[in-house]
Amino acid sequence: MIVVMSQRAKKEDISAVLDRLNKAGFASHLSEGVERTIIGAIGDKTRMGDFALEAMPEVDQVVPILKPYTLVSRAFKVEDTIIKVGDLEIGGDQIHIMAGPCAVESREQLFEAAEVVKRAGATILRGGAYKPRTSPYAFQGLEEKGLQYLAEARERTGLKIVTEVMDASTLPMVAEYADILQIGTRNMQNYFLLRAVAKLNKPVLLKRGVSATIQEWLMSAEYIMAGGNYNVILCERGIRTYENSTRNTLDLSAVPVINHLSHLPIIVDPSHALGKWRYVSSMAKAAVAAGADGLLIEVHPNPSEALCDGQQSLTPDNFRLLMEETKMVAQAIGKVIF
Ligand code: PEP
Ligand code: MN
Repeated sequence: MIVVMSQRAKKEDISAVLDRLNKAGFASHLSEGVERTIIGAIGDKTRMGDFALEAMPEVDQVVPILKPYTLVSRAFKVEDTIIKVGDLEIGGDQIHIMAGPCAVESREQLFEAAEVVKRAGATILRGGAYKPRTSPYAFQGLEEKGLQYLAEARERTGLKIVTEVMDASTLPMVAEYADILQIGTRNMQNYFLLRAVAKLNKPVLLKRGVSATIQEWLMSAEYIMAGGNYNVILCERGIRTYENSTRNTLDLSAVPVINHLSHLPIIVDPSHALGKWRYVSSMAKAAVAAGADGLLIEVHPNPSEALCDGQQSLTPDNFRLLMEETKMVAQAIGKVIF
């Protein structure tokens, strides 16, 4: 249930409600908005009637939850969540571009990509050190060496780092290097991993599962928030449909739907959705127009030599063009890219 406190509620009133919930065995999560405090309470409803709390001082309203998720919902938090990544803010009026190669392949390749994306206006560098490849014979990533190169690239450019974590055993190491932990499409429903990242206080980029509904995706985000980590950024990256002229089908409708259902920021990855570089820029612009808080774009200094996803990676020139055009779209809807 969601407990909406009145605007006059004092600390003692809120504590009293929290105590009462605690005694009934509920877990409580606080959302302290500009106007009022909202408490998300999760527990066994047989131990306390839905509306019993309305009898307590300064409780305005108790709203039973009709959806299976609570903490990710707009009902729990009315204002958009802004996630801080160092001095960057994701989810506000500024659109952030995360760009870089699919995989970290070498120091030279990464540094060159980092320079290119930085100069064009990206604020976050992407690059996989642990790669979830469909084939066991494909390049699997440089692992810790790759993470070290990412950290060096951060030092040189000031860009923040987003990189994928594939399992709980490597999480402590990846978390040591990353500014944002990416959970890939294949792991969206790896609840063990979701619970593990929930214990850290680090931003998580949660990609949509390739065949997940929006509700299932939000339930995965709920796992992370329920475990105590509220820093979740959603990422639409295309879903599998019967259409096969693109790698996946970019579900851009997810952007307004998520913006309606949830307070969490949402970014779009047109690279993995479309799977072909020539379609990436159109859908990047469309994503910004639809209200995305950022983009994830694969860029390689020389896509034809990429060890992974070269066919969908932009050249430096094409990335610069994408940035110029996307900035105009952002401006048209009252947002800025940097
Ligand atoms: C990636 O971003 O490198 C990646 C593997 O993406 P996804 O999980 O969306 O396939
Ligand atoms: Mn890729």
